[in-house]
Amino acid sequence: MKAVAVFPGSREVKIVEHKAPRLSQPDQVMLRMLDIGICGTDREICSFEYGTPPWGYDYLVIGHEALAEVVEVGSAVNRLKPGDLVVPTVRRPCSHPECLACRSGHQDYCYTGDFTERGIKEAHGYMTEFVVDHECYMNHVPPDLREVDVLVEPLTIAEKALAQVFWLMQHRPPWIGPEVPSSELGRGLKALVLGVGPVGLLGAMMLVTAGFETYVYSRELPPNPRIDLVCSIGATYISTQTSNIEQLLVQIGNIDLVYEAVGHSHLALEVLKVLGINGIYVLTGVPGLQAFIEADPARLMRDMVLKNQVLLGTVNAGSEAFASAIRNLDVFIKRWPAAVRTLIAGRYPPEQTFELILGRPTGIKSVIAFDGARVIGTRNS
Ligand SMILES: [Zn+2]
Ligand SMILES: [Zn+2]
Repeated sequence: MKAVAVFPGSREVKIVEHKAPRLSQPDQVMLRMLDIGICGTDREICSFEYGTPPWGYDYLVIGHEALAEVVEVGSAVNRLKPGDLVVPTVRRPCSHPECLACRSGHQDYCYTGDFTERGIKEAHGYMTEFVVDHECYMNHVPPDLREVDVLVEPLTIAEKALAQVFWLMQHRPPWIGPEVPSSELGRGLKALVLGVGPVGLLGAMMLVTAGFETYVYSRELPPNPRIDLVCSIGATYISTQTSNIEQLLVQIGNIDLVYEAVGHSHLALEVLKVLGINGIYVLTGVPGLQAFIEADPARLMRDMVLKNQVLLGTVNAGSEAFASAIRNLDVFIKRWPAAVRTLIAGRYPPEQTFELILGRPTGIKSVIAFDGARVIGTRNS
């Protein structure tokens, strides 16, 4: 069967003929892959910055943001049946008995680093026709979200991050009570999102939904569809080209929460300087090699201590984050149907994967459709 693969040894990216998988254990499910989203991680893997083939292979099948249909189930599978739609998780646990995280089903917090990740690290990904995996890594999604379910995986980044932020907000300022409804958690608070990629935009949707006065800070200038999207969900857009950090601070006031989703270390550090009293700063970007800059760590340290600040890094994601992402995507699509659909730039055939990954971005989130009938690219047009 067809698969989209990267050969790190020979530095090649191409479509390969990959052996079709079979059920070999009773708790496994066979998936027919439908949609696979592409993101910056795929770009870095296809530029050979990272990405490791599984043992015994010289290539890695890429793709980690997936939607699939269950087509066959093992005898011990009880939650899923053929025809169900699922979003699979990405990370699989390490095998070390002492890894407290992996042994308790929290492999996104793995201590040893010996985890695998489908489509990224030592495990084949989802850009292929069929995949076999264990039922416990599957997240059942309702069929009415079929068009946008491929956004579940990128949304888990915000879900995991903000679940931790909301826990912190109950145990330190602003001491929100357990009775506060989820739509009012951020009431009276100001959140700043860095970046207008899918992770930033989905994060902004979550923050608006939680009641934060939400600002989005990025390089783009209007007219730009991403800026239109920010405004359409009720957030305020500020461009780095028209407002520097000091002007940003004047415009917003005390910044209670920063959600960094751009992977730009220089900008991240600049904004850390203006984080507010009792502020929480969430980092989700994974920067590649970037230019060294001068910094004043003593001032940063003084500010963080004297202002009770929290700096939180987070990598996605566990099953709770997937479950809440599925619930929130339903909330988003009902509240902002056009904006959520705008996040998906288009569906394209596997043959176009590499030009979409390595070329200029054509929209916000490009999706590879292994389900040929739904492709809007060259193959069916
Ligand atoms: Zn991704
Ligand atoms: Zn582990």
